Amino acid sequence: MATNRTFTMIKPDAVENGHIGGILDKINAAGFRIVAMKMTRLSTQKAGEFYAVHSARPFYGELVEFMSSGHIVAAILEKTNAVEDFRKLIGATNPANAEEGTIRKQYAESIGRNAVHGSDSDENAQIEGDFFFSGLEKF
Ligand code: ATP
Ligand code: MG
Repeated sequence: MATNRTFTMIKPDAVENGHIGGILDKINAAGFRIVAMKMTRLSTQKAGEFYAVHSARPFYGELVEFMSSGHIVAAILEKTNAVEDFRKLIGATNPANAEEGTIRKQYAESIGRNAVHGSDSDENAQIEGDFFFSGLEKF
């Protein structure tokens, strides 16, 4: 089904390594419009809440620690078929498996430090966007 909005974060590794500009360039070039955007930092509690779906997984502690270790850039993006097209643009979770031209192929360091987040469904895109942005911050 065609969808309109997705949610992304540029993760602490990519922010630290100076890749905010490069990643936003790829997002723009792929035809996404930025609906909302901010740089912020997650507390361990907020990172745990955001990734609560993974709380039973062995990597959960590492994931929460990493996602709260530095600044992130959160954004809502708009495009026809946004969720699916953005997942294609970011590439596989493990950068070793990511296709050429994808954001993770270019910028991710490892499966844990993988540069960007992308929502996996319309429903989660809405929930995740609302986690970071009020109605007044969405354009
Ligand atoms: P994201 O939700 O961040 O967009 P994803 O949907 O590609 O990533 P998920 O399965 O939702 O992947 O996992 C969430 C995040 O947890 C991954 O992006 C990665 O940073 C981390 N992660 C997943 N699997 C592992 C693993 N085996 N070891 C370490 N970290 C992992
Ligand atoms: Mg995911």
